[in-house]
Amino acid sequence: MPQTIPATLIEGDGIGPEIVDATLAALDALQAPFEWDRQVAGLGGVKASGDPLPAATLDSIRKTRLALKGPLETPSGGGYRSSNVRLREEFKLYANLRPARTIVPGGRFDKIDLVVVRENLEGLYIGHEHYVQIDDDPHAVAMATGINTRAGCRRILDYAFEYAVATGRKKVTIVHKANIMKALTGIFKETAEQLYEQKYQGRIGMETVIVDACAMKLVLNPWQFDVIVTTNLFGDILSDLVAGLVGGLGMAPGANIGTDAAIFEAVHGSAPDIAGQGKANPVALMLAAAMMLDHVQRKDLGDRLRTAIDATLNVDQVRTGDLGGKASTGEFSRALVARIVNG
Ligand code: NAD
Repeated sequence: MPQTIPATLIEGDGIGPEIVDATLAALDALQAPFEWDRQVAGLGGVKASGDPLPAATLDSIRKTRLALKGPLETPSGGGYRSSNVRLREEFKLYANLRPARTIVPGGRFDKIDLVVVRENLEGLYIGHEHYVQIDDDPHAVAMATGINTRAGCRRILDYAFEYAVATGRKKVTIVHKANIMKALTGIFKETAEQLYEQKYQGRIGMETVIVDACAMKLVLNPWQFDVIVTTNLFGDILSDLVAGLVGGLGMAPGANIGTDAAIFEAVHGSAPDIAGQGKANPVALMLAAAMMLDHVQRKDLGDRLRTAIDATLNVDQVRTGDLGGKASTGEFSRALVARIVNG
């Protein structure tokens, strides 16, 4: 009996069940080693137990330390906090890894292959925000506090450099706004320069770029970048920008890596506008599953999955509507499974 790896599976909301089904079909065809513990979260969690992140789901991830997750909706009203943010905090998922690689050629940009590493726990996302009332306007002043720590910067930078070296990348670009936010993002730049000098000089290239210039350079000449590492808010924005370079959200996977667990997901949300219609592109979640295979040291299977996705899209020309094709989620999934099985 081959060794199995326990992992938590969360279908998620909206198109979640459709893209998870398609992804499981691909993983089954690959005979991937995961032994799934199915749990609910998001709207599914609220329906099941009144909590978008039920205790049983958290317990499961605590045990498996590994999860594949569909998109989660945070119910509006009821004062619920985002399940995604809670998961990040609970499992200290400090690194958000978002690779962007051209799979369908002929778009606005060809041959893109870069990775954004986003700090996931600090910065302006810590939720220290408030309004100040003046006279009868309760929202007269809005304030937000950002926190970046030396230890937090070092941890994400170390992760990015190690990842870049291990995957044979040539250069790490440190993105900051230290000319204006001298303390908040200055600490990130300063820590990067120190860390590079101590550990990585001579092993890989490094450059520092201001975030606004980086956004422009990404559009003018994205091929100059390899691995980009940056703080939470800049990473959020730039990783969607790079998803746009390679055909949009349907093609963008993400990994949330932490000290206590690793959670793999598509970057996109639950797409309520197309949910239940068989129109969703499952590729982003499938690419996330390929990253999960890499993570458990089964890069052989991750590579087979990526190769089969490539062949299904480009040789068989089976594509969902967001990529200009006519295939349903199920049709794409069946074509992909045939590619995995028959090569
Ligand atoms: P969205 O990503 O769900 O959808 C944006 C647009 O992209 C829609 O037109 C949608 O149809 C399309 N789209 C997204 N994924 C697609 C796919 N796989 N195939 C084809 N088309 C696809 O963003 P939104 O509408 O802003 O958010 C909807 C819900 O998802 C919200 O409740 C939001 O909070 C949640 N959300 C969850 C996550 C997550 O769990 N990681 C991420 C983002 C948004």
